[in-house]
Amino acid sequence: MGEIFQDAPPIFVHELVLEQILTYSEQDVSRERGGFLLGGFHEDRRTYVEVRHFLPAHETRSRAASLTFTHATWSQLNQQVESSYPEEVVVGWHHTHPNFGVFLSAYDLFIHRNFFSEPWQIAMVVDPQRQELGFFQWRRGEVADCGFVCVWEDEPRTG
Ligand SMILES: [Zn+2]
Repeated sequence: MGEIFQDAPPIFVHELVLEQILTYSEQDVSRERGGFLLGGFHEDRRTYVEVRHFLPAHETRSRAASLTFTHATWSQLNQQVESSYPEEVVVGWHHTHPNFGVFLSAYDLFIHRNFFSEPWQIAMVVDPQRQELGFFQWRRGEVADCGFVCVWEDEPRTG
């Protein structure tokens, strides 16, 4: 879905994880919600990013059109990864834009630059009311929108 670029790692998202994120996104459209994408960054014939799990963000400050991750958000995330997903890394983050479309705001870019600065780290934005979603990745030093590949669960897992 969408365009896959040659100069950046393609993104593979497991179907069940995608469904989980969309369901979570729809559960409250009065304010922004967010979470974290867990998985791996693999060096195969070419490098790619794989999203295998989703963790809702806790202890956020959230309004209709803003979302802030607090210190408690990050410490809970680190604890959850350590205890439940020690093999996984945080490959990116997710948040919703209820009824205002899929893009990264100046504040979203600030978050991405400061907390997701690895070249393989990605952002996902969901508008649950317009039923739109999009991914963003680092390309040539900029954060740009991109497509992704949905992995159906009956296919053998790679990586
Ligand atoms: Zn945003």
